[in-house]
Amino acid sequence: MTPHAPHAPYADPAAGAAVKAADRAHVFHSWSAQGLIDPLAVAGAEGSYFWDYDGNRYLDFTSGLVYTNIGYQHPTVIAAIQEQAGKLATFAPAFAIESRSEAARLIAERTPGDLDKIFFTNGGAEAVENAIRMARLHTGRPKVLSAYRSYHGATSTAINLTGDPRRWPSDNGSAGVVRFWAPFLYRSPFYAQTEAEECARALQHLEDTIAFEGPSSIAAIILETVPGTAGIMTPPPGYLAGVREICDRYGIVFVLDEVMAGFGRTGAWFAADHFDVVPDLLTFAKGVNSGYVPLGGVAISAEIAATFETRPYPGGLTYSGHPLACAAAVATIGVMEDEKVVEHAARIGETVLGPGLRELAERHPSVGEVRGLGAFWALELVRDRETREPLVPYNASGEAAAPMAAFGAAAKKQGLWPFINMNRTHAVPACNVSEAEAKEGLAALDVALSVADTYT
Ligand code: PMP
Repeated sequence: MTPHAPHAPYADPAAGAAVKAADRAHVFHSWSAQGLIDPLAVAGAEGSYFWDYDGNRYLDFTSGLVYTNIGYQHPTVIAAIQEQAGKLATFAPAFAIESRSEAARLIAERTPGDLDKIFFTNGGAEAVENAIRMARLHTGRPKVLSAYRSYHGATSTAINLTGDPRRWPSDNGSAGVVRFWAPFLYRSPFYAQTEAEECARALQHLEDTIAFEGPSSIAAIILETVPGTAGIMTPPPGYLAGVREICDRYGIVFVLDEVMAGFGRTGAWFAADHFDVVPDLLTFAKGVNSGYVPLGGVAISAEIAATFETRPYPGGLTYSGHPLACAAAVATIGVMEDEKVVEHAARIGETVLGPGLRELAERHPSVGEVRGLGAFWALELVRDRETREPLVPYNASGEAAAPMAAFGAAAKKQGLWPFINMNRTHAVPACNVSEAEAKEGLAALDVALSVADTYT
């Protein structure tokens, strides 16, 4: 029996060993060299914590893969899934189903502007694939522009749109994908010194890219509103509005990918709300139901939806808009409203995580920059603050990645499960993380950063 009490000690090493043995024998893990991994056997989770079979409990500063926005095992959502399973566990996408129509209504009411039609998918990459397909069909144009510092998913087109080096092994050079540099002042591709300079040069670079690719060949520009996996880089003021204006001028569809940044993560329902910008298509997943049942989707503008009024939209999978996933979304959005989770995320960012992380940066030479908002923060770890040399090289593995591995091991020893990507650690707890939990995480990071400091 797995207990549902994160504070009660729990240990059943024999059960954990059996889980681990079956995993190692038969589970082929994603993004991994199968013979080199040692996955933790997890016995249970609740709220901001999960625990193993050996008596260890971890504060989850990763929110899974940045998706458990209301934490683990929220009883209201679990009850809603159970109720839906009892009522109608599954039904094909072509039918009008109560949980599906209600989820679509609640999402459409929260997405910005006239993004009022919801196409459901089973996750984020599939949402991106469909947004691109919609943009190409709507415009009749082939090309798509995406940013180098980005992650859009691991399916065929989504991994090609991704700029992150993780795409390298599976990059098939998908037809029509053109990458450009989006703004990131700390490592400015434009040698800018100020945010205003970075913004202006990034917009000029995008204009130049479009001019040389041919505006009439470009279907879409896709950007993460706040790039997540690539480093939580809040765009400078004016940038997204500038991209919006460029898209309008050339008839290009503007796609904002909010798979990670949406549903409360940044302290707003959608990150676009911070920038007063309305895309033509907005992709979501993860936080829509905290990942309790796989769900994602595309929120579609009235103009693009009109393209498919009499012409069929050629896309959709067997499980699209699954009733269990939609019931979980309805319940999750209800919880977020009732418990003011979005407002809480904004406040915890402003009053605890932001100030706490900046204070750590003052004391730890390995911290090059702190950036973020809401429950969405990154620490850029460096060998040298002056040169900004990353603590580990891009795409490092094995020995080259040792400093980040040592940092991670130290965090885990403190009972903190950290998010690590290249030379960065992200502080991305549940959006309803309590103040005490957030402070516990900061204290553990303090110890782990002392280990990172030894490599500076
Ligand atoms: N877009 C963004 C911005 C993401 O962060 C992710 C996942 N990390 C995806 C797309 C892909 O989502 P999924 O893994 O659900 O396919």
